[in-house]
Amino acid sequence: NDSVVIIGAGHAGVQAAASLREEGFGGGVILVGDEPELPYHKPPLSKSFIKDSEARSQPLRGERFYLENAIDLRRGTRISRIDHRGRVLDIDGGGTIAFKHLILATGSRARALEIEGGDLSGVRSLRSLADARSIGELSRIAAEIVILGGGFIGLELAATLAACGRSVTVVEAADRLLSRAVSPAVATHVRHRLEANGVRILTGTSIGRLDGNSGKVKAALTTSGKRLPAELVIVGIGAVPNVRLARTAGLTVANGIAVDDGMRTSLAGILAIGDVAVYKHWLNDETLRLESVQNATDQARLAARTVVGISDAYSAVPWFWSDIGDLKLQMVGLTARCDTQILLGDTGDDSFSVFHYLGDRLMGIDSVNRPADHMLGRKILKAGFSPARQTVIAGSDELKRAFA
Ligand code: FAD
Repeated sequence: NDSVVIIGAGHAGVQAAASLREEGFGGGVILVGDEPELPYHKPPLSKSFIKDSEARSQPLRGERFYLENAIDLRRGTRISRIDHRGRVLDIDGGGTIAFKHLILATGSRARALEIEGGDLSGVRSLRSLADARSIGELSRIAAEIVILGGGFIGLELAATLAACGRSVTVVEAADRLLSRAVSPAVATHVRHRLEANGVRILTGTSIGRLDGNSGKVKAALTTSGKRLPAELVIVGIGAVPNVRLARTAGLTVANGIAVDDGMRTSLAGILAIGDVAVYKHWLNDETLRLESVQNATDQARLAARTVVGISDAYSAVPWFWSDIGDLKLQMVGLTARCDTQILLGDTGDDSFSVFHYLGDRLMGIDSVNRPADHMLGRKILKAGFSPARQTVIAGSDELKRAFA
């Protein structure tokens, strides 16, 4: 048996299957996913998809792709156990699949809301197509919607639902929106735009419990006693990696499955990629787990190369995008520990970028409606170039000249 089995048919799993064929892998490729649909793009779920009751999912690849590339896609199939010594997987409900190489692409799931009332009907999180359909249906009949969490998914949904005429309140425990992801200037701009479009935003506010009637949610209560009426509560408080299979198989697991720079786990012949993988990032030496399409796709390509015996080290530049209403946010690099920010452009024009420095080194750029800065940033970081601050302050043309 020379098969590669991939568990999880999301962005990472599908790309790994495709890349194995692109790299000339001639053995069996079995892609196992527990969702019933043809694997689909996740980002639209919090954006355009919710607006339209007739919306269809956007497949990552058409059905023919799997046939033409001899990829054995097994939908609606859940793996319940990995026997790494026997090189075999147990299928939930019966049956087994043998493997030589195994790629874990099990992704992440929405963090659960562990408060009283968290299990009432009308409380939803968004991770899958099924979740998006359910939120879409409930949102059409809910007079008031409360979104817990001012992260990307919560704010994208808030913008979309407000544009559909719904009454939306976002509740965020931190003192600002998007606190883990972007600079204060970007977060403030996003807040103003959402508020101008009718979204109510409460920062520095925590929900203590949810109140219901006949099992259905009716209100969210803040810890200071304020009652926010809600027929739909959407929980967007982050994601946790799906590591149960890996942990019980004995792989090293922290906040994700630990991998090296070739996506290899602690057990020979088993790799992990995408939202579930935790690794030391080449850009800042931090051990982290990223949740983005870029990360899933680039790690999948690298894992395929590792399987066919090409040993590249992971060197992709991290980037991410988010569409919040008509604001196009694009982030490149890793900016968590940066100490200086330089703003380029004008927040009043709805078009600006924030350049993040750690000491003298440019670590990343957040852009709002300024795609050229983002694309240049991807090239600059890939090249390991760090422009002097004066060059950035002098403007985009000067920056382009310095990099050329
Ligand atoms: P996933 O896509 O989550 O796929 C994992 C799959 O594995 C799932 O189908 C899961 O059901 C399956 N699985 C898990 N366990 C098993 C098992 N035991 N057996 C079989 N199957 C299993 N990123 C961006 O860059 N830009 C965006 O704008 C953006 N928007 C997003 C909007 C939403 C609503 C969501 C949910 C995510 C968004 N992301 C965005 C993040 C991006 O979609 C993820 O980073 C990406 O999907 C990760 O890919 P993955 O393959 O690692 O995991």
